[in-house]
Amino acid sequence: MEKLDIASMTLPELETLFAGLGQPKFRAKQTYKWLRCGVTDFDQMTDLPLTLRDTLRERALIRGVRIVRRLVSKIDGTVKYLYALHDGETVESVLMHYEHGYTVCISTQVGCRMGCSFCASGIDGLKRNLTASEMLAQVFTAGQDNDIRVSNVVLMGMGEPLDNFENSLRFLQLVTAEEGLHIGMRHISLSTSGVVTGIQRLKEYNLPITLSVSLHAPNDTIRSSIMPVNRKWGVEPLLSACKEYQSVTTRRISFEYALIDGVNDSDDCAFELAHRLKGLLCHVNLIPANPVNENSFQKPDHKKILHFQALLAANGINATIRRTLGADINASCGQLRRHAERLV
Ligand code: SAH
Ligand code: SF4
Repeated sequence: MEKLDIASMTLPELETLFAGLGQPKFRAKQTYKWLRCGVTDFDQMTDLPLTLRDTLRERALIRGVRIVRRLVSKIDGTVKYLYALHDGETVESVLMHYEHGYTVCISTQVGCRMGCSFCASGIDGLKRNLTASEMLAQVFTAGQDNDIRVSNVVLMGMGEPLDNFENSLRFLQLVTAEEGLHIGMRHISLSTSGVVTGIQRLKEYNLPITLSVSLHAPNDTIRSSIMPVNRKWGVEPLLSACKEYQSVTTRRISFEYALIDGVNDSDDCAFELAHRLKGLLCHVNLIPANPVNENSFQKPDHKKILHFQALLAANGINATIRRTLGADINASCGQLRRHAERLV
């Protein structure tokens, strides 16, 4: 029998489990608190009777992550982790230090099935979804390893969070729980490649997180050529879903735009993008595309990036160029895992 993924459970779920074990409600609460603090072993739950700890160990597993590799940037201290999961699969996380605190970028899936042509995470497709506890463990482990308090979380590592909707939502619920890390929803960003049905579902929860949409192109011709998801949901339906999302949540949407030399960086692209985004409360993040070994994409030179930004600004769209953190350790996700796979 597969062991219960106990650290993914909410308090009411634990209470039901404990009732079934003939245990009082307060034991569920005690256990919940330990799990929310990132314990990795039932023996750390020192206020539980030994017999209960044994019962829990028999039936449940606390899914943690083990650090396999740890790369520290000499430029800015960014730390990139390759973590092993309980079944030997691996995922990546990145810990970044900004003026306002520490941000952890977590993975939501092992691999990804969206197949964007510029991205290393999707090259071998999707292996499996991560559970909420495996997402949480990435945050705990980065915090504990550096003895710091994590203040922000971004779901921007490997995987498509809206393709693992329930677990990503459960993670949001657990990482914001006051018994644990208590990270404010406003300090969390979720990035999607444009899974329209997922955006529509997320809208119903009206969470004050930041929705980040990886747009990367202003029209279907270019977007479909680099992002297969666009063949299912084109730019028009995607932007309508964003508008509806915004009308419910009143939150500013962040659009990611990875500039790829000769693909999506022309003046026409800038004009078309500005035109398409007009009227949406949004912000554009320009990211110089990160070259990946498996493809031939290059980033434009810096002058061209500044020019693209200026064209957007002249047409009423606020855009910033993303500061590159961890440039010397290849901090964008998916690449370390692929490198490690080649080594083994
Ligand atoms: N699957 C989600 C979240 C993870 S990817 C999504 O696609 O939004 C996180 C971000 O990194 C996305 O904006 C993605 O488009 C971007 N990205 C992936 N590979 C990249 C590369 N080689 N260079 C620049 N950005 C990249
Ligand atoms: Fe998946 Fe995002 Fe990479 Fe596209 S960019 S393959 S959606 S992880």
